[in-house]
Amino acid sequence: MSLALDRLRLLLPDGVDAVLVANPVNVGWLTGFTGSSGVVIATAKEAVFVTDSRYTLQAAEEVGNMPTESFASPVELADYLAEVLARLGVTRLGFDASSTTHAQWEKWQAKWPAVTLVPASSLFDGLRMIKFPDELAGLREACALADAAFDHVRRLIQVGVSEFDINLELEFFIRRNGAEIAFEPIVVSGERSARPHGRASEKKLEVGDFLTMDFGAKWRGMNSDLTRTVVVGDATARHRELYDTVLSAQIEAVESVRPGVRARDLDARVRERFAEKGWDVFFGHSLGHGLGRVVHDSGRLAATSDDVLEPGQVWTIEPGIYIPGFGGVRIEDDVVVTADGVEVLTHAPKELLVLP
Ligand code: ZN
Ligand code: ZN
Repeated sequence: MSLALDRLRLLLPDGVDAVLVANPVNVGWLTGFTGSSGVVIATAKEAVFVTDSRYTLQAAEEVGNMPTESFASPVELADYLAEVLARLGVTRLGFDASSTTHAQWEKWQAKWPAVTLVPASSLFDGLRMIKFPDELAGLREACALADAAFDHVRRLIQVGVSEFDINLELEFFIRRNGAEIAFEPIVVSGERSARPHGRASEKKLEVGDFLTMDFGAKWRGMNSDLTRTVVVGDATARHRELYDTVLSAQIEAVESVRPGVRARDLDARVRERFAEKGWDVFFGHSLGHGLGRVVHDSGRLAATSDDVLEPGQVWTIEPGIYIPGFGGVRIEDDVVVTADGVEVLTHAPKELLVLP
C-alpha cells in the first residue's frame, strides 16, 4: 500500500505542497480503507488519514501506511482539516476538481483562507491505471468468479426462463460466493439484445433469441466485467455470421494488445472489420475501458482516446454489433497489458453456445 503513496508523491504537480485526496476510491487505493468517509492529506514527506469517529476503529485496523486521526461532532471535517493543514505548513493544496463539488470548494475556500486551492485533476485521472501486484491478484479472483457465474447460469438457460430469473441467479451466485456485484447485470434477449445497456425484464427466452449477459464481481475492491452472448434453442446462418464477425474481431483485438499500441488504433481496427460487412454503423460504443476499483475506470479504447497501452494497465475488450429488430452480440473480456503482450483474465468459453 505504501507503493501507492510513493506513486502519488512521484506525480505531485509542481507548485503544490500537498494534495488532498477525498474521492473514496482514491482513498481506498492509497490506504486500504474501505469506509465511505475519510480523506488523506499528503505532502512530499508526510501523510495523514483523517476520518470521523464512526470510523476510528476501522481506520486503525485498515490503514497501515500512515497515521490516522479522527474527529467527533460538533467538529466538522473542514474545521479539523484546517488544523492539519496549518500543522503541516500547507499553503498550496492540490485537489481533485472532477470529484469535488462546487459547494465543497466554496466551503474549503471559506474555512482555509491561508491556503490556495489548486485543481490537480490530471494527477488523479491516470493515478490508478497501472495496477499493483495485489490489485492484479484481486482482479484475477474477481474475473474467476465472473467465469464461474457464467458457468453456473448457462445451465439454467432454456426456453421459458425470464431475463429476470437469469439476472437474479447471476447476482445470487456472485453474492453467495462472498463478493459484491460490480454493477447491476445486463440481461437482454431477442430483439432486446440490440440494446447494449438494456436492463433485464420479464421477457421469457424463446427459440432463436440471442441472449446477452453482461455482469461482474467486485472482490477486495477490484471489479470484473464480462459479457457473453449465447443463442437459445436454434442458431440460424444469420446468428452465426453476426456472432463470428464479433468474435473474430474481438479475438484479433485481444491478441493485438501489447505495450505501445495506441488505444484508438485498436478501436479503429475493429471498426474496419465490421465495415467490411457494412455493420460498423451498428457498433455505437467504444471498444473498451479501463477497469479496476471502478468498473468504468480511467482510460478508453475509443476513436478519440489519446491513451497508449502500458504494462500493468487493465482493459475490457468488448466489441458489439446491435441490429434493431433482430438482436445484438457483444463479447467482452478483461485483459492486463504485460511487458511483452497480453494476459487474458476472463476465461468463459467464447465459441457460439446454442443452449440448451
Ligand atoms: Zn460489461
Ligand atoms: Zn465493460
